[in-house]
Amino acid sequence: MAPALKSCPLCVCPGVMLGFALRPHNLTLREIKYFAFPGELLMRMLQMLVLPLIVSSLVTGISSLDSKASGKMGMRAVAYYMVTTLIAVFIGIVIVIVIKPGKGHRDSPVASSGTIEPVHAADAFLDLIRNMFPPNLVEACFKQYKTVYKKTIHTKNTVVEMIPVSGSSNGVNALGLVVFSMCFGLVIGSMKQQGQALRDFFDCLNEAIMRLVAIVIWYAPVGILFLIAAKIVEMKNLAEVGGQLGMYTVSVIVGLLIHGLFVLPLLYFLVTRKNPYTFMAGLLQALITALGTSSSSATLPITFRCLEENNRVDKRVTRFILPVGATINMDGTALYEAVAAIFIAQVNDMELNFGQILTISITATAASIGAAGIPQAGLVTMVIVLTSVGLPTEDITLIIAVDWFLDRLRTTTNVLGDSIGAGIVEHLSRQELQSQDVEVGNSVIEE
Ligand code: ASP
Repeated sequence: MAPALKSCPLCVCPGVMLGFALRPHNLTLREIKYFAFPGELLMRMLQMLVLPLIVSSLVTGISSLDSKASGKMGMRAVAYYMVTTLIAVFIGIVIVIVIKPGKGHRDSPVASSGTIEPVHAADAFLDLIRNMFPPNLVEACFKQYKTVYKKTIHTKNTVVEMIPVSGSSNGVNALGLVVFSMCFGLVIGSMKQQGQALRDFFDCLNEAIMRLVAIVIWYAPVGILFLIAAKIVEMKNLAEVGGQLGMYTVSVIVGLLIHGLFVLPLLYFLVTRKNPYTFMAGLLQALITALGTSSSSATLPITFRCLEENNRVDKRVTRFILPVGATINMDGTALYEAVAAIFIAQVNDMELNFGQILTISITATAASIGAAGIPQAGLVTMVIVLTSVGLPTEDITLIIAVDWFLDRLRTTTNVLGDSIGAGIVEHLSRQELQSQDVEVGNSVIEE
């Protein structure tokens, strides 16, 4: 393991200690912002690398495989994503029903005021499809399409009417870039000799970006230390994590732990017959970066390094599977959305029938696919889950207080799910990879 990769886990404890040591000093917001600056720099560096990394790795990954191999690999990945996300949702639902964290919660003073704009589940679903086909690739690098309801009109009878208007929201449209890059890679791959120049270009671009990642990795421990310390200094509602929202927080954490520490490793073991915890040890730095940044997209460069350098996963698999996984495979987010929605139903004394629980499972899965790999994206897409079963969207404010914390944990689970997925798909695709090696004389992607 590279020394910089090794030293990253060591930054968590000093970060936590530094944060708690500074809390009594009641720093002002400005002082906290200055203090958080080294962490902010790490986030910016990682985000800077993500876009070229997604595009170049997908194009090289897919164009280096023949269409049959990439098709098979893609199907395996999608099957893995669907199975693990549904298992995560199931675990979340069972736990929240057993623990019942929302019972007798209504009187609690936790809820803060605020309005969340209702978004119809059908609109959100169509937006997901629209985002797969961005009309402008440059715009897709900084804008997503999102239907917005502009005005609420109060009529005489105080009926609220919503006017849907088309609109865009800020944030990278990673899904659009992933779909484009996959298609582009497939086409270049099918062009044989004619496509060689483009293949070489993207290969070289990818290599250059990975070298930049190696430089950022040296700085990562410092950045993560400050990200964690600044968050601890900044948070006002520390008591709520273990206080009134304690049982809800515990439900999400237990669900994530069961999924991350037992279900995913078991799946890995059943498929590969290898020790899953050794594989997970190789991912430590990526998991800690996810914990520090709350963003699976920003963690992507580090996830690549961990899988390729520590776990020796074939680059053709990581380049194809990881960018897709970081965009659409979010087990932690799906689990959290299901727990949160049922928690809100419990708070409202609403008994959910089997059909409604099934609807929550499906919409939580869809909402996790639609959530971007950025901090607290899951909180926004949860509106889809709530509206699908008629729960009050404004009750999202009930759980905002602890979301910064749960976001970090679910992001870590998301990154773990993507990485174990890459390991499993590689194992299942050995035959295709070997026959490809033979065909191209081992010159597919140079180490
Ligand atoms: N922060 C999560 C991620 O980047 C998404 C979420 O908010 O659940 O994976």
